[in-house]
Amino acid sequence: VIEISNVSKSYGKGESKLTVLKEVSLTVEQGEFVAILGPSGSGKTTLMNIIGLIDTLDSGSYHLDGVDINNQSEKDYAKIRNEKIGFVFQKFNLISKYTALYNVALPLLLHGENYKTAKKKAMQTLHRVGLSERSHHRPNELSGGQQQRVAIARALIGECPLILADEPTGALDQKTGIEVLDFFRELNREGKTIVMITHDPSIASRAQRVVHVQDGKIIQKRESVVQ
Ligand code: ATP
Repeated sequence: VIEISNVSKSYGKGESKLTVLKEVSLTVEQGEFVAILGPSGSGKTTLMNIIGLIDTLDSGSYHLDGVDINNQSEKDYAKIRNEKIGFVFQKFNLISKYTALYNVALPLLLHGENYKTAKKKAMQTLHRVGLSERSHHRPNELSGGQQQRVAIARALIGECPLILADEPTGALDQKTGIEVLDFFRELNREGKTIVMITHDPSIASRAQRVVHVQDGKIIQKRESVVQ
């Protein structure tokens, strides 16, 4: 599904130019659950933003489901993102003045769905993440784990095949974080492709495959051999 080949990306110009990704190549097959693991500043978020069509690459190529992303107009770029990718963030990124239900319904409403259908679907999706009882609460009336589940419901409502999660457990305690990861595993078993970034090896180890990023490059790590 994701084919990235020799992708480089820099920020700034001249002396202040900072190359954040250096000829990165990565393939993620449909139905995989991949963790991108690396220290702070290694380029993980930049890579995720490129995969998520939030940022553009400087050189190299990116194909998503066989479509050459470099050759898309801005309109098509946004269309592909909306159809294919659901996002989950560390800080949930919910809108505080809206209820859980409205936060989840929002992507559909923004795409012209009528209110009744969007609301019904949002309710079903909240049920899916175990939060139907909390649908009329606002984010500040929910625990961190519940807020992240609302955010996951928002990522699921568009039925996108790919979920990108940027440090999804970073703002949660360990137990709640593991619950969120278990839920990702369940979604993955149901067929979603999941790419998650983290700096925490114990979180990464819950994915099917770990890709190590260091200093803007993907590095191959051998599995440690027990003597
Ligand atoms: P963290 O785990 O701390 O979020 P990361 O591995 O996700 O780190 P990135 O966010 O991709 O790393 O950042 C890599 C480098 O690129 C950092 O040095 C950062 O300061 C720089 N950088 C990121 N975005 C921009 C930008 N828009 N403009 C300039 N520099 C940027």
